[in-house]
Amino acid sequence: MRASELYAPTLREVPAEAELLSHKLMLRAGLIRKAAGGMYTYLPLAWRVMKKISQIIREEMDAKGGQEIMMPITQPAEIWKESGRWAVYGDEMMRLKDRHGREFCLGPTHEEMVTTLIRGEVNSYKQLPLMLYQIQNKYRDEIRPRFGLMRSREFVMKDLYSFDKDVEGMNISYEKMYDAYSKVFTRCGLKFRAVEADNGAIGGGHSHEFTVLAPSGESSIAYCENCDYAASDEKAELKVITSEVEELKSLEKVKTPDCHTIEMVKNFLNVPIEKTIKAVAFQDDDGKLILAFVRGDHEVNEIKVLNATGALHLHMSEESAINAVGGCAGFMSPIGLKDGAIIVVDATVMEMYNAVAGANEIDAHFINVTPKRDFDAKKIIVADIRMVQEGDPCPHCGESLKMTRGIEVGQVFTLGNKYSKALNVTFLDENGKEKFFEMGCYGIGVGRTMAAAIEQNNDKDGIIWTRAIAPFEIVIAVVNAKDAAQIEYAEKLYNELKNLGVDVLLDDRQERAGVKFKDCDLIGYPLRVTVSPKTLDTNSVEVKVRKSGDIFYYNRAECVEKICHILNEL
Ligand code: ATP
Ligand code: MG
Repeated sequence: MRASELYAPTLREVPAEAELLSHKLMLRAGLIRKAAGGMYTYLPLAWRVMKKISQIIREEMDAKGGQEIMMPITQPAEIWKESGRWAVYGDEMMRLKDRHGREFCLGPTHEEMVTTLIRGEVNSYKQLPLMLYQIQNKYRDEIRPRFGLMRSREFVMKDLYSFDKDVEGMNISYEKMYDAYSKVFTRCGLKFRAVEADNGAIGGGHSHEFTVLAPSGESSIAYCENCDYAASDEKAELKVITSEVEELKSLEKVKTPDCHTIEMVKNFLNVPIEKTIKAVAFQDDDGKLILAFVRGDHEVNEIKVLNATGALHLHMSEESAINAVGGCAGFMSPIGLKDGAIIVVDATVMEMYNAVAGANEIDAHFINVTPKRDFDAKKIIVADIRMVQEGDPCPHCGESLKMTRGIEVGQVFTLGNKYSKALNVTFLDENGKEKFFEMGCYGIGVGRTMAAAIEQNNDKDGIIWTRAIAPFEIVIAVVNAKDAAQIEYAEKLYNELKNLGVDVLLDDRQERAGVKFKDCDLIGYPLRVTVSPKTLDTNSVEVKVRKSGDIFYYNRAECVEKICHILNEL
C-alpha cells in the first residue's frame, strides 16, 4: 500500500469532542470518525487493526473447536418474549417495527437467537459439545455513550455460545474459552488480568472479565501480586476481620448532639473509626426498607447487599420508611428496631467489641455495643457486604490486595440451562432422557480491545502499536518523494519486504519529511525505515523502532534480514 493512496486524514489539533486519550488519538491519527453519538466509521487504518484483532480471535476460537457463523443482526421480538427478556432489557435495546408492524430489535447479544437456532435440530448428546460464534455489530443504546469505541452504541463483538450435555462439559468449554481468551489478549500484546466477576443481569454460574490494566479504565479491580487472584471490586470476596477479644462493657446510651456522620461521632466521642458502626439505608422496588451495617471505615457493596437480600434493585431510602420502623436517619443501629426492615450486617461487624452505633433517636448513640450480644440474631442477616479496599487480605493467599483500574475487553460466563429452559430447547442423553443444554457465552469487544491497546501503549507523540495488531508493520518514509532516485530505492525495498509477507506501507506522499515523521509517530507503526539522500549516498537505510526510539543504520545488502529480525523481536 502507498500512503499517497491511503485515506488516513490525520489532525494536528486535539479534537474537542474527546476526553479519553485513546479516543483523541484515534481521531487525530485518522482511524475513526463520528457519525452520531456512539456510532463511528472505521477508516482504513482502524479497519486493518480490527481485522487483525478479529483474525487472532478467529484462530483462537477455531483452535478450541469453535465454528464461525453469521446470525442476523435484526432479531424477532418473539424469541425475546419467550425468554422473558423483551420486558426486562429496557431502554438499552434498540427496537424497531417492520412494515407489517412486527416487532424486532437490533441484537445487543444473541443467546435467544443461537438457542432457537439449534432448537429441534441438535437432538442428541452425540452432536455435543457445540461451539458457535460470530463477529458482527452489536447494538446497545447505552445511557452514556462515551470515550469513542470504548462505550459506543454500535460496536463489533465476537460472541461465542457453547452447548454441552452436562455441567461438567460446560465447565470444560468454559476452561477452553478462558484459555483462548488469555491467548487472544496475550497475542494482542496487552497487559491484562482475568478477573472474577459478578454475573450481572445475564444470570447463570461463574464468570471472568478479561481486563486490560489502565488507569483510565472504568472498572476497579482488586488483585494480588503474590498469587493470580483478581476480582472486580464488586465481586471481591472478603475475609472476616476479627478483633482482639475484649471484656464486654454494658450497653449505654450517650448524647451526641448534631453527630449525624461517622466522622462527627468519632471525633465527638474520641474513638477510632474502626470502633464505629455505620448504617446505609435503601429501599427495594416494593419500598421495603433494607438497612446495611458496616464498620465505620468500610463502604457498603451494593451488589453484595442485593445478593444477600434477594432484592433486584436498591434505591435511596425515604426518611418516612426509616421512621416507620422506629429508626432515625443518621443515628441508626439494629438495636431495638421494630419489625418491617431487612437488616444486613457485615460479618466483620459481628466480630466487634464495645463499639459505637446509633441509638435510633436524634442526637444519641450507644456505646459499648457488642453485636454478638446486642443484635437480635433472629432479625438480622449476616453476610460479607463490604467493598474491598487496598490492603485487604487476599482471599486465596492472605497477602495484601492492591487496587487498580482496568478496561473490560472480554467476558466469559457459564449460563447453565437458563436459556435452554426458558426457550425449551432439549436433547436426548445417553439414556434416551430429555435434557436441557448446559450453555456458556463468551464475548470480546473488538473495537474496545483496539481502544484499550492504544490506552496502554502510547506516548506524547502518538500511538505505539504492537506488531500483531498494527495497521502496517513497517512504514518506509521517503524523505523527498519528488526525487525519482529515492522513490526507486524505496520501492525496491518495499517490494522485497512485501514479497517476504511483511505488511509494509510506502510513504510516497509529496509532503515535507517533518510532516511524514510526525504522522508516522502519531499513527504508531512499529518500525520506520527512512530513505533519504544520505542513506542513498551510503547505500544504507535508517531504521527507527517506534517503541524504544532506537535508531539503527544498516547496509542495503543486509537491511532486509536485519529489519525482519527486529520485527520478530517486537
Ligand atoms: P460493560 O459492563 O462495559 O457495559 P458488558 O459487561 O455489558 O460491558 P458484555 O455483554 O460482557 O458487556 O459484552 C462483551 C464485550 O463487549 C465486553 O467485554 C466489551 O469488550 C464489549 N462491549 C460491551 N459493551 C460495549 C460498548 N457499549 N461499546 C463497546 N464495546 C462494548
Ligand atoms: Mg461484561
